[in-house]
Amino acid sequence: METNRHNFSSGPSILPDEVLQKAAQAVLNFNDSGLSLIEISHRDPAFVDIINSARSQALELLNLQDKGYSALFLQGGASLEFVRVAYNLLSKNGTAGYINTGSWSNNALNEASYFGKIVEVASSKDKKYNYIPKNIEIPSNLDYLHITSNNTIYGTQFKEFPQTDIPLVCDMSSDIFSRVLDFTKFDLIYACAQKNAGTSGVNLVVVKNELLERIKKPIPNIMNYRKHIERESMYNTPSVFSVYVSYLTLNWLKDSGGVEAMERKNRAKAHLMYSEIDRNNLFFGNASVEDRSVMNATFFLKDEKLATQFNTLCLKEGIYGINGHRTAGGYRASIYNAMPITSVQLLVQVMQYFEAHFG
Ligand code: PMP
Repeated sequence: METNRHNFSSGPSILPDEVLQKAAQAVLNFNDSGLSLIEISHRDPAFVDIINSARSQALELLNLQDKGYSALFLQGGASLEFVRVAYNLLSKNGTAGYINTGSWSNNALNEASYFGKIVEVASSKDKKYNYIPKNIEIPSNLDYLHITSNNTIYGTQFKEFPQTDIPLVCDMSSDIFSRVLDFTKFDLIYACAQKNAGTSGVNLVVVKNELLERIKKPIPNIMNYRKHIERESMYNTPSVFSVYVSYLTLNWLKDSGGVEAMERKNRAKAHLMYSEIDRNNLFFGNASVEDRSVMNATFFLKDEKLATQFNTLCLKEGIYGINGHRTAGGYRASIYNAMPITSVQLLVQVMQYFEAHFG
Protein backbone atom coordinates (compact mmCIF):
# COMPACT_ATOMS: atom_id res chain seq x y z
CA MET A 1 0.00 0.00 0.00
CA GLU A 2 1.69 3.16 -1.22
CA THR A 3 1.11 5.93 1.29
CA ASN A 4 2.74 9.19 2.21
CA ARG A 5 1.42 8.87 5.75
CA HIS A 6 3.74 8.31 8.69
CA ASN A 7 1.65 6.59 11.31
CA PHE A 8 2.73 7.34 14.90
CA SER A 9 -0.60 6.26 16.39
CA SER A 10 -0.49 4.60 19.81
CA GLY A 11 -2.94 1.83 18.90
CA PRO A 12 -4.49 0.57 16.76
CA SER A 13 -1.22 1.40 15.12
CA ILE A 14 1.03 0.90 12.15
CA LEU A 15 1.16 -2.57 10.60
CA PRO A 16 3.76 -3.86 8.13
CA ASP A 17 2.77 -3.28 4.53
CA GLU A 18 2.92 -6.95 3.64
CA VAL A 19 0.57 -7.76 6.53
CA LEU A 20 -2.00 -5.29 5.20
CA GLN A 21 -1.65 -6.66 1.67
CA LYS A 22 -2.09 -10.27 2.72
CA ALA A 23 -4.94 -9.49 5.11
CA ALA A 24 -6.77 -7.55 2.40
CA GLN A 25 -6.27 -10.41 -0.06
CA ALA A 26 -7.56 -12.98 2.44
CA VAL A 27 -10.75 -10.96 2.92
CA LEU A 28 -11.36 -11.07 -0.82
CA ASN A 29 -10.20 -14.60 -1.57
CA PHE A 30 -8.65 -16.69 1.17
CA ASN A 31 -5.91 -19.04 -0.06
CA ASP A 32 -7.49 -19.15 -3.54
CA SER A 33 -10.52 -20.88 -2.08
CA GLY A 34 -12.96 -18.47 -3.70
CA LEU A 35 -14.21 -17.66 -0.20
CA SER A 36 -13.42 -14.82 2.14
CA LEU A 37 -11.48 -15.50 5.32
CA ILE A 38 -14.28 -13.80 7.24
CA GLU A 39 -17.06 -15.98 5.85
CA ILE A 40 -15.60 -19.44 6.48
CA SER A 41 -16.12 -21.49 9.62
CA HIS A 42 -13.61 -20.96 12.38
CA ARG A 43 -13.49 -24.79 12.50
CA ASP A 44 -12.32 -24.97 8.88
CA PRO A 45 -8.99 -26.84 9.03
CA ALA A 46 -7.29 -23.92 7.25
CA PHE A 47 -8.26 -21.53 10.04
CA VAL A 48 -7.50 -24.06 12.79
CA ASP A 49 -3.99 -24.29 11.31
CA ILE A 50 -3.68 -20.52 11.41
CA ILE A 51 -4.69 -20.05 15.03
CA ASN A 52 -2.51 -22.96 16.14
CA SER A 53 0.42 -21.70 14.16
CA ALA A 54 -0.03 -18.18 15.60
CA ARG A 55 -0.16 -19.63 19.11
CA SER A 56 3.05 -21.57 18.69
CA GLN A 57 4.74 -18.69 16.86
CA ALA A 58 3.97 -16.41 19.83
CA LEU A 59 5.61 -18.88 22.23
CA GLU A 60 8.59 -19.29 19.92
CA LEU A 61 9.17 -15.55 19.59
CA LEU A 62 9.18 -15.27 23.39
CA ASN A 63 11.46 -18.28 23.64
CA LEU A 64 8.84 -20.09 25.71
CA GLN A 65 8.16 -23.10 23.50
CA ASP A 66 8.40 -26.42 25.39
CA LYS A 67 8.65 -24.59 28.71
CA GLY A 68 5.20 -25.36 30.09
CA TYR A 69 3.42 -22.28 28.75
CA SER A 70 0.24 -21.96 26.67
CA ALA A 71 -0.65 -19.15 24.29
CA LEU A 72 -4.24 -18.06 23.72
CA PHE A 73 -5.98 -15.55 21.48
CA LEU A 74 -8.98 -14.25 23.42
CA GLN A 75 -11.34 -11.31 23.10
CA GLY A 76 -12.36 -8.29 25.13
CA GLY A 77 -9.09 -6.38 24.88
CA ALA A 78 -6.44 -6.10 27.54
CA SER A 79 -9.22 -4.59 29.66
CA LEU A 80 -10.93 -7.95 29.86
CA GLU A 81 -7.68 -9.54 31.01
CA PHE A 82 -7.66 -7.06 33.93
CA VAL A 83 -10.78 -8.93 35.05
CA ARG A 84 -9.89 -12.44 33.91
CA VAL A 85 -6.52 -12.35 35.69
CA ALA A 86 -8.15 -11.54 39.02
CA TYR A 87 -11.05 -13.93 38.48
CA ASN A 88 -8.60 -16.80 37.97
CA LEU A 89 -5.74 -15.94 40.26
CA LEU A 90 -7.11 -14.06 43.24
CA SER A 91 -8.21 -16.57 45.86
CA LYS A 92 -11.11 -16.07 48.28
CA ASN A 93 -9.06 -14.85 51.20
CA GLY A 94 -6.01 -13.87 49.22
CA THR A 95 -4.42 -10.55 48.30
CA ALA A 96 -3.05 -9.36 44.97
CA GLY A 97 -0.33 -6.73 44.63
CA TYR A 98 -0.34 -4.07 41.91
CA ILE A 99 2.39 -1.66 40.89
CA ASN A 100 0.60 1.43 39.71
CA THR A 101 2.57 3.12 36.93
CA GLY A 102 -0.20 4.66 34.85
CA SER A 103 -3.87 4.77 33.92
CA TRP A 104 -3.83 1.21 32.58
CA SER A 105 -2.28 -0.23 35.74
CA ASN A 106 -4.74 1.81 37.73
CA ASN A 107 -7.61 0.31 35.72
CA ALA A 108 -6.18 -3.19 36.19
CA LEU A 109 -6.04 -2.60 39.94
CA ASN A 110 -9.58 -1.22 40.13
CA GLU A 111 -11.06 -4.07 38.11
CA ALA A 112 -9.29 -6.67 40.27
CA SER A 113 -10.69 -5.08 43.42
CA TYR A 114 -14.13 -6.54 42.52
CA PHE A 115 -12.69 -10.00 43.23
CA GLY A 116 -10.88 -9.55 46.50
CA LYS A 117 -8.24 -7.70 48.42
CA ILE A 118 -5.74 -5.60 46.50
CA VAL A 119 -2.66 -3.77 47.71
CA GLU A 120 -0.95 -1.05 45.78
CA VAL A 121 2.63 -2.17 46.28
CA ALA A 122 4.14 0.95 44.69
CA SER A 123 2.90 3.89 42.66
CA SER A 124 4.25 6.77 40.60
CA LYS A 125 0.97 8.67 40.70
CA ASP A 126 2.58 11.35 42.91
CA LYS A 127 4.48 12.65 39.87
CA LYS A 128 1.82 12.11 37.24
CA TYR A 129 3.29 8.72 36.41
CA ASN A 130 6.47 10.14 34.92
CA TYR A 131 8.77 7.51 36.46
CA ILE A 132 8.99 3.84 37.40
CA PRO A 133 9.18 3.15 41.17
CA LYS A 134 12.44 1.47 42.25
CA ASN A 135 13.52 -0.73 45.17
CA ILE A 136 10.01 -1.96 45.67
CA GLU A 137 9.29 -4.02 48.74
CA ILE A 138 7.00 -6.85 47.82
CA PRO A 139 4.85 -8.42 50.54
CA SER A 140 5.39 -12.17 50.75
CA ASN A 141 1.73 -13.14 51.07
CA LEU A 142 0.50 -12.14 47.61
CA ASP A 143 -1.40 -14.45 45.26
CA TYR A 144 0.32 -12.57 42.42
CA LEU A 145 2.06 -9.32 41.59
CA HIS A 146 0.78 -7.34 38.60
CA ILE A 147 2.89 -4.89 36.64
CA THR A 148 2.54 -2.98 33.38
CA SER A 149 5.82 -3.27 31.49
CA ASN A 150 5.29 -0.23 29.28
CA ASN A 151 3.07 2.72 30.09
CA THR A 152 1.65 3.71 26.74
CA ILE A 153 0.21 7.03 27.88
CA TYR A 154 3.11 8.38 29.93
CA GLY A 155 6.03 6.94 27.97
CA THR A 156 7.73 5.03 30.77
CA GLN A 157 8.93 1.44 30.75
CA PHE A 158 10.29 -1.07 33.23
CA LYS A 159 13.94 -1.79 32.36
CA GLU A 160 14.32 -4.23 35.23
CA PHE A 161 11.60 -6.33 36.74
CA PRO A 162 10.96 -7.02 40.41
CA GLN A 163 12.80 -10.12 41.64
CA THR A 164 10.24 -12.21 43.41
CA ASP A 165 9.03 -15.74 43.95
CA ILE A 166 5.45 -14.52 43.81
CA PRO A 167 3.70 -15.23 40.50
CA LEU A 168 4.42 -12.30 38.21
CA VAL A 169 1.62 -11.11 35.91
CA CYS A 170 2.51 -8.56 33.28
CA ASP A 171 0.45 -6.38 30.97
CA MET A 172 2.80 -6.12 27.96
CA SER A 173 0.20 -4.55 25.69
CA SER A 174 2.49 -1.89 24.31
CA ASP A 175 5.91 -3.53 24.29
CA ILE A 176 5.46 -7.24 23.68
CA PHE A 177 7.88 -8.59 21.04
CA SER A 178 9.88 -5.36 21.15
CA ARG A 179 12.82 -6.48 23.29
CA VAL A 180 14.53 -9.62 24.46
CA LEU A 181 13.71 -10.57 28.03
CA ASP A 182 13.86 -13.74 30.03
CA PHE A 183 10.15 -14.38 29.65
CA THR A 184 10.30 -17.40 31.97
CA LYS A 185 10.35 -14.84 34.81
CA PHE A 186 6.69 -14.15 34.06
CA ASP A 187 3.86 -16.48 35.02
CA LEU A 188 1.25 -14.75 32.93
CA ILE A 189 1.71 -12.20 30.16
CA TYR A 190 -1.13 -10.53 28.33
CA ALA A 191 -1.30 -7.97 25.58
CA CYS A 192 -3.93 -6.41 23.41
CA ALA A 193 -2.85 -7.07 19.83
CA GLN A 194 -3.31 -3.62 18.35
CA LYS A 195 0.26 -2.39 18.87
CA ASN A 196 2.99 -4.98 18.20
CA ALA A 197 0.91 -8.11 17.73
CA GLY A 198 -1.73 -7.35 15.10
CA THR A 199 -4.91 -5.35 15.24
CA SER A 200 -7.72 -4.80 17.73
CA GLY A 201 -10.25 -7.54 18.41
CA VAL A 202 -7.92 -10.03 19.97
CA ASN A 203 -5.64 -10.29 23.00
CA LEU A 204 -2.71 -12.56 23.39
CA VAL A 205 -2.39 -14.39 26.71
CA VAL A 206 0.69 -16.44 27.52
CA VAL A 207 0.37 -18.38 30.73
CA LYS A 208 2.44 -20.90 32.65
CA ASN A 209 0.24 -24.01 32.89
CA GLU A 210 1.42 -24.78 36.41
CA LEU A 211 0.05 -21.45 37.66
CA LEU A 212 -3.47 -22.54 36.78
CA GLU A 213 -3.24 -25.96 38.41
CA ARG A 214 -3.63 -24.53 41.89
CA ILE A 215 -6.98 -22.84 41.14
CA LYS A 216 -9.78 -24.48 43.09
CA LYS A 217 -12.73 -22.11 42.71
CA PRO A 218 -15.38 -22.52 40.01
CA ILE A 219 -14.98 -20.02 37.17
CA PRO A 220 -17.41 -19.49 34.27
CA ASN A 221 -15.96 -21.02 31.11
CA ILE A 222 -15.53 -17.81 29.14
CA MET A 223 -13.49 -16.36 32.01
CA ASN A 224 -11.55 -19.53 32.70
CA TYR A 225 -8.01 -19.74 31.31
CA ARG A 226 -7.95 -23.49 31.84
CA LYS A 227 -11.06 -23.93 29.71
CA HIS A 228 -9.55 -21.84 26.92
CA ILE A 229 -6.38 -23.93 26.98
CA GLU A 230 -8.34 -27.17 27.00
CA ARG A 231 -10.32 -25.96 23.95
CA GLU A 232 -7.18 -24.72 22.18
CA SER A 233 -8.37 -21.12 22.09
CA MET A 234 -11.60 -22.20 20.36
CA TYR A 235 -14.00 -22.32 23.30
CA ASN A 236 -16.16 -19.87 21.40
CA THR A 237 -15.85 -18.29 17.96
CA PRO A 238 -12.55 -16.46 17.85
CA SER A 239 -12.14 -13.11 16.15
CA VAL A 240 -11.11 -14.78 12.90
CA PHE A 241 -9.88 -11.71 11.07
CA SER A 242 -7.93 -10.34 14.04
CA VAL A 243 -6.30 -13.71 14.70
CA TYR A 244 -5.28 -13.83 11.03
CA VAL A 245 -3.71 -10.35 11.27
CA SER A 246 -1.80 -11.50 14.37
CA TYR A 247 -0.68 -14.61 12.50
CA LEU A 248 0.63 -12.48 9.62
CA THR A 249 2.26 -9.99 11.99
CA LEU A 250 4.05 -12.71 13.96
CA ASN A 251 5.27 -14.33 10.74
CA TRP A 252 6.54 -10.96 9.54
CA LEU A 253 8.28 -10.51 12.87
CA LYS A 254 10.01 -13.85 12.61
CA ASP A 255 11.02 -13.28 8.97
CA SER A 256 12.42 -9.88 9.96
CA GLY A 257 14.87 -11.44 12.41
CA GLY A 258 12.66 -11.99 15.45
CA VAL A 259 12.59 -10.07 18.70
CA GLU A 260 16.37 -9.52 18.78
CA ALA A 261 16.34 -7.69 15.46
CA MET A 262 13.29 -5.67 16.57
CA GLU A 263 15.07 -4.62 19.74
CA ARG A 264 18.07 -3.33 17.78
CA LYS A 265 15.88 -1.31 15.44
CA ASN A 266 13.67 -0.04 18.24
CA ARG A 267 16.66 1.18 20.21
CA ALA A 268 17.99 3.07 17.19
CA LYS A 269 14.58 4.72 16.60
CA ALA A 270 14.17 5.66 20.27
CA HIS A 271 17.71 7.06 20.41
CA LEU A 272 17.01 9.27 17.40
CA MET A 273 13.72 10.47 18.83
CA TYR A 274 14.94 11.23 22.35
CA SER A 275 18.14 12.90 21.11
CA GLU A 276 15.99 15.37 19.21
CA ILE A 277 13.59 15.92 22.12
CA ASP A 278 16.58 16.74 24.34
CA ARG A 279 18.39 18.88 21.76
CA ASN A 280 15.48 20.91 20.41
CA ASN A 281 14.92 24.21 22.24
CA LEU A 282 11.19 24.21 21.63
CA PHE A 283 10.40 20.82 23.20
CA PHE A 284 11.00 18.90 26.39
CA GLY A 285 10.39 15.37 27.57
CA ASN A 286 9.07 14.82 31.08
CA ALA A 287 9.44 11.06 31.54
CA SER A 288 12.34 10.23 33.83
CA VAL A 289 15.32 9.66 31.51
CA GLU A 290 16.29 6.21 32.80
CA ASP A 291 12.69 5.00 32.51
CA ARG A 292 11.97 6.30 29.01
CA SER A 293 9.87 4.00 26.87
CA VAL A 294 11.43 2.64 23.70
CA MET A 295 7.91 2.35 22.25
CA ASN A 296 6.12 5.60 23.15
CA ALA A 297 8.20 8.78 23.27
CA THR A 298 6.24 11.54 25.01
CA PHE A 299 7.21 15.20 24.65
CA PHE A 300 5.77 18.67 25.10
CA LEU A 301 6.09 22.12 23.61
CA LYS A 302 7.72 24.59 25.99
CA ASP A 303 5.34 27.20 24.60
CA GLU A 304 1.85 25.74 24.14
CA LYS A 305 0.93 28.70 21.96
CA LEU A 306 2.98 27.18 19.16
CA ALA A 307 0.81 24.04 19.07
CA THR A 308 -1.30 25.06 16.06
CA GLN A 309 1.77 25.82 13.97
CA PHE A 310 3.44 22.53 14.89
CA ASN A 311 0.27 20.52 14.30
CA THR A 312 -0.21 22.15 10.89
CA LEU A 313 3.35 21.38 9.89
CA CYS A 314 3.00 17.73 10.95
CA LEU A 315 -0.23 17.41 9.01
CA LYS A 316 1.40 18.86 5.90
CA GLU A 317 4.23 16.31 6.14
CA GLY A 318 1.84 13.36 6.55
CA ILE A 319 2.70 12.81 10.20
CA TYR A 320 -0.31 11.13 11.75
CA GLY A 321 -1.23 10.30 15.33
CA ILE A 322 1.37 12.13 17.42
CA ASN A 323 -1.03 13.92 19.74
CA GLY A 324 -0.61 12.80 23.35
CA HIS A 325 -3.33 10.84 25.11
CA ARG A 326 -6.32 13.07 25.89
CA THR A 327 -5.55 12.85 29.62
CA ALA A 328 -1.84 13.58 29.29
CA GLY A 329 -1.65 16.24 26.56
CA GLY A 330 1.48 17.11 24.62
CA TYR A 331 2.82 14.74 21.98
CA ARG A 332 3.55 11.05 21.79
CA ALA A 333 5.45 9.37 19.01
CA SER A 334 4.59 5.69 19.12
CA ILE A 335 7.41 3.88 17.38
CA TYR A 336 6.33 0.26 17.47
CA ASN A 337 8.05 -2.61 15.66
CA ALA A 338 6.48 -1.88 12.28
CA MET A 339 7.51 1.79 12.29
CA PRO A 340 10.41 2.35 9.86
CA ILE A 341 13.30 4.51 11.03
CA THR A 342 12.74 6.72 7.97
CA SER A 343 9.46 7.96 9.50
CA VAL A 344 11.27 8.83 12.73
CA GLN A 345 13.92 10.65 10.70
CA LEU A 346 11.17 12.66 9.03
CA LEU A 347 9.59 13.62 12.36
CA VAL A 348 13.01 14.71 13.63
CA GLN A 349 13.53 16.82 10.50
CA VAL A 350 10.13 18.42 10.99
CA MET A 351 11.01 19.26 14.61
CA GLN A 352 14.30 20.79 13.43
CA TYR A 353 12.59 22.80 10.72
CA PHE A 354 10.06 23.97 13.29
CA GLU A 355 12.80 25.13 15.63
CA ALA A 356 14.60 26.95 12.83
CA HIS A 357 11.43 28.83 11.81
CA PHE A 358 9.57 29.33 15.07
CA GLY A 359 12.33 29.25 17.69
N1 PMP B 1 -2.87 -1.85 28.85
C1 PMP B 1 -2.06 -1.04 28.14
C2 PMP B 1 -0.63 -0.91 28.56
C3 PMP B 1 -2.56 -0.34 27.05
O1 PMP B 1 -1.77 0.48 26.36
C4 PMP B 1 -3.92 -0.49 26.68
C5 PMP B 1 -4.54 0.20 25.49
N2 PMP B 1 -3.87 1.17 24.92
C6 PMP B 1 -4.72 -1.34 27.46
C7 PMP B 1 -4.16 -2.01 28.53
C8 PMP B 1 -6.19 -1.53 27.15
O2 PMP B 1 -6.33 -2.28 26.01
P1 PMP B 1 -7.78 -2.51 25.37
O3 PMP B 1 -8.24 -1.19 24.85
O4 PMP B 1 -7.51 -3.51 24.29
O5 PMP B 1 -8.67 -3.05 26.43
